[in-house]
Amino acid sequence: MPLNQQIVLDNRPTGEATASNFMLVASDTPELQDGQVLVRHHYLSLDPYMRGRMNDSKNYAAAQPLGQVMIGGTVGEVVESRSPKFQPGDKVVGMGGWQQYSVVDDKQPGALRKVDTTHVPLSHYLGAVGMPGVTAWYGLVKIIEPQAGQTVVISAATGAVGSAFAALARARGCRTVGIAGGPDKCRYAVDELGFDACIDYKLHQDAASLSMAIKVACPKGIDGYFENVGGMVLNAVLPLMNDFGRIAVCGMIAGYDGEPTPITHPALILRSRLKVQGFIVAEHMEVWPDALTELGLLVGSGKLRPRETVAHGLEAAPEAFLGLLKGKNFGKQLVKLI
Ligand code: NDP
Repeated sequence: MPLNQQIVLDNRPTGEATASNFMLVASDTPELQDGQVLVRHHYLSLDPYMRGRMNDSKNYAAAQPLGQVMIGGTVGEVVESRSPKFQPGDKVVGMGGWQQYSVVDDKQPGALRKVDTTHVPLSHYLGAVGMPGVTAWYGLVKIIEPQAGQTVVISAATGAVGSAFAALARARGCRTVGIAGGPDKCRYAVDELGFDACIDYKLHQDAASLSMAIKVACPKGIDGYFENVGGMVLNAVLPLMNDFGRIAVCGMIAGYDGEPTPITHPALILRSRLKVQGFIVAEHMEVWPDALTELGLLVGSGKLRPRETVAHGLEAAPEAFLGLLKGKNFGKQLVKLI
């Protein structure tokens, strides 16, 4: 059985996460028991939620235990099988973690899913046709519930969730406006992802200035806002929300390292009779089949062409992860493991 390189959480961050919170180790892969398969990971997904798991504080999910392999989505290939459900060569998606191989029990519900790579590249099952894509779908379809012609806005617009959101909102006939960091990302949002406009929040020192720029791109106000960031960006969007607007609270990345992200005028929620709803995509497994079908068709037809930032080798994962939290990624952040 092969030697397995792994990255474990060695210690918890105080404030900003650093590479020294992680440790690279190696261990032997255990012999397979009946019902188990050995998966060789081709790609590891890096996602902002992992930052929350590094803390040992109240959260919607359990903290990452110290000394254990970091949690994470993976795609790869079955290389050995003692399960009738999987054959060597099957391409699979699972939660293999920050390591080169994983042993998976076929009795664990949903632990491993076969995927078809005929029209969708394997890596996209960690992005547009995976958890981030379904996240965009849930927030848009189930919380924002847009009508054709309405204006919807998303922050972190060029990331894994943001790019899927653009294609889904366009398919529903919405005016779709992004908020992203820097001129390159904003150009890409409009030219490649099909946003009608994109606002560079980094050009603005405060919420009032950013709000004025967003207002120009949203002349009829905002009907639906998909929140990925929090802080100044949310404070800039709130005054522009139309009456009975909907805000899907998906992420608050501006606060993941512990900075406070206060809402300066919560009375706007009342004044505009807004619906503000947080959600965790893993708690809505019932929508995944429909969402994945639509996302797969959008990718297969070329209407969604997601970009990826790929780090190479497991040892590159910590720096790539820290870069993701600072916006160094352009689209879905992955680590290629073979
Ligand atoms: P992205 O690929 O969008 O990467 C994160 C992006 O966040 C960065 O590229 C950066 O973009 C932006 N960002 C980072 N720091 C800041 C900051 N201080 N202010 C403003 N923007 C910042 O990640 P994902 O698409 O994977 O995730 C997007 C969001 O969705 C995250 O908040 C994540 O936690 C959340 N999420 C929630 C889920 C749920 O179930 N609720 C499931 C999946 C994701 P830029 O350069 O444009 O600033």
